[in-house]
Amino acid sequence: MNLNLGNKVFIVTGGAKGIGAAISKTIAAEGGIVVIAGRNKTDNQAIADEIIKAGGKASYFTAELAAPETCSEVIDFAVEKYGRIDGLINNAGINDGVGLEKGSPEKFFQSLQKNLSHYYNLAHFAVPYLKKTKGNIVNIGSKVSVTGQGNTSGYAASKGAVNALTREWAVELLPYSIRVNTVLPAEVWTPLYENWIKTLPNPEEKLAQIVSKIPLEKRMTTAEEIADMTVFLLSNRSSHTTGQIIYVDGGYTHLDRSLQ
Ligand code: NAP
Repeated sequence: MNLNLGNKVFIVTGGAKGIGAAISKTIAAEGGIVVIAGRNKTDNQAIADEIIKAGGKASYFTAELAAPETCSEVIDFAVEKYGRIDGLINNAGINDGVGLEKGSPEKFFQSLQKNLSHYYNLAHFAVPYLKKTKGNIVNIGSKVSVTGQGNTSGYAASKGAVNALTREWAVELLPYSIRVNTVLPAEVWTPLYENWIKTLPNPEEKLAQIVSKIPLEKRMTTAEEIADMTVFLLSNRSSHTTGQIIYVDGGYTHLDRSLQ
């Protein structure tokens, strides 16, 4: 299947690590041009170099996305460099453990800025350009938005809002044929996941317990499996799919608990 991404430009937030890195590499392998937006210059440079070495096209903009002005700078960078934007992949986020009891109003607000505000801000600044290309938006969500996790109010609220905004933006952008979808992972081995599991007592035991409850093949989802669905949604091969929240989780969130 040809995804027809050739010479199209895609901004991937957090595109230098974990799921974002897999999305960046998959877009490039399909012929698309990747703009990585992330806060660590060394990581950004490493993935851009890897893509270019493999024959792909990539550049990066180093920015902490929690600040609204950096989001408009990311969009300006892509437009000045390539003259167009065909897709925005809102992926950067962190499960930062701001709980109801252990958090504070200030920490909750900061968590929303780290996990949610930049999804809106980037989409806001990208829309004028997406209108020109009939481009689209893919958000990366989380199972926490529908299952809860405990001790992570800021992250859960952000991911719940991402699901709501997926429907809201899909409706608002219908007149421009801009599609909006969310890919929703549950358990994917990435630097974020590794850091999170280490915060738990007996992390190895806990990991084995989680994996044993993933219905399909009793294994974690790979970052590449999330990337494949994301890139399919970005492509015109999914040209009549919008407002969808697609669970790429080996059945973890929904299948019969007796299977587990
Ligand atoms: P990751 O391994 O930590 O990679 C995320 C990347 O985004 C890192 O490069 C990180 O930079 C960057 N980043 C995060 N917040 C940023 C910000 N405010 N500004 C700029 N850069 C930022 O995470 P991941 O596991 O791939 O997660 C990617 C997405 O998938 C997130 O939205 C997460 O909620 C979602 N998700 C993941 C899982 C899972 O099992 N892994 C499950 C459900 C949902 P630093 O390295 O500096 O932090």
